[in-house]
Amino acid sequence: MKEFDYIIIGGGCAGLSLAYELEIHEKFKDKTLAIIEPRNDYIRDKTWSFWKVEAHNFEDCVKKSWNNFSINIPDQTKYVQCDNLPYQSIDSGLFYEKIINTLKKNTNINFFKNIDEISTENSFVFNSLSDVSDSKNDLWQHFSGIEIETNKDLFDDQIFNLMDFDCEQRGSVHFFYTLPYSKNKALIETTWLSKMKDNSQKDYDNQIKDYIENHLNLKDYKITYKETGAIPLFYPININKKNKINIGTAGGMTRLSTGYTFLNIQEHSKYICDNIENISKTKIFEINKKYQFLDKIFLRVLEKYPEKMPNIFLKMFHGSSKTVIKFLSNKSNFFVDLLIILKMPKWIFINALFK
Ligand SMILES: Cc1cc2nc3c(=O)[nH]c(=O)nc-3n(C[C@H](O)[C@H](O)[C@H](O)COP(=O)(O)OP(=O)(O)OC[C@H]3O[C@@H](n4cnc5c(N)ncnc54)[C@H](O)[C@@H]3O)c2cc1C
Repeated sequence: MKEFDYIIIGGGCAGLSLAYELEIHEKFKDKTLAIIEPRNDYIRDKTWSFWKVEAHNFEDCVKKSWNNFSINIPDQTKYVQCDNLPYQSIDSGLFYEKIINTLKKNTNINFFKNIDEISTENSFVFNSLSDVSDSKNDLWQHFSGIEIETNKDLFDDQIFNLMDFDCEQRGSVHFFYTLPYSKNKALIETTWLSKMKDNSQKDYDNQIKDYIENHLNLKDYKITYKETGAIPLFYPININKKNKINIGTAGGMTRLSTGYTFLNIQEHSKYICDNIENISKTKIFEINKKYQFLDKIFLRVLEKYPEKMPNIFLKMFHGSSKTVIKFLSNKSNFFVDLLIILKMPKWIFINALFK
């Protein structure tokens, strides 16, 4: 069976980001790569959004960028500016197309549908598959969204809505998220932070329809795209072995308090690329331990006091937006961390710390 220097298991966001980073830095001139990916076609299936706190390779796949956003709780709306750290949305269709077209040109890179088609014995493996089957009691961010088109210009495309908590909470944390791509096109998502075993929240289609028709007061619209998914708000169990590194969600690249993963994947890819010549001896890359610790406490509060979360999220954005964006994007210093911590309701968080 054919052997390769490197194997990437899963040609999704993390697998392709890594392959692209290595390819543009000419790491496959005399090395070979096998990408294991079962899907037949790459079609748009996700929208990756984030505050651009650092440069990335996919500026040409950005569908839209915003400098303003809002957060709502019942009877209160907060408007926030983010001029220096814009919020970007990447179209996964453009992302897949750009990467596949680049990788196809290098004959040292091959795609396979199944790992059994190649020998893995002497390869270094980057794995993006995780086993999360036993995690029924853990928290997930689960959501569904539709892109809609209207005949008339009804959206203000200069401002997106990060979280609208003015909706049913059903004993969990629930909000709507609206990304207006233009004056007559927007992605509208219903998002839940809860345990997955609770199926009573999964009437996503009805929730979105009701929100669009009775909250946004839009009656005449066309659905042009749909995405549904779930992001684990816990670290999947995946043991790092010699000659194997986990990447993407499987590699712990999700920020647990937010679900943001895309930019962490890009940072991880750069780290691997910088160290590829000595990869088996390189320290494992991880999200800074201080965020792991703070997010754990945050999620304990979320689980115990879901009804308090809309106010906590809103409060977080009081004051400088740069501060909170940097904190949520793993780029904060000690003083920024302190500022955020001081905004939180003290006793609830101290209680959660000692749980
Ligand atoms: C719908 C959705 C929207 C998201 N939006 C955001 C966002 O706005 N911002 C953000 O930062 N993060 C977001 N995330 C979180 C995260 O960025 C994505 O989940 C991202 O795709 C994670 O990359 P990954 O490579 O770990 O997983 P994936 O992109 O899911 O890649 C895994 C790949 O493995 C393949 N595969 C499956 N089975 C096998 C097998 N047996 N062998 C080999 N390969 C296999 C799959 O086909 C897939 O291509 C979102 C997640 C989802 C699900």
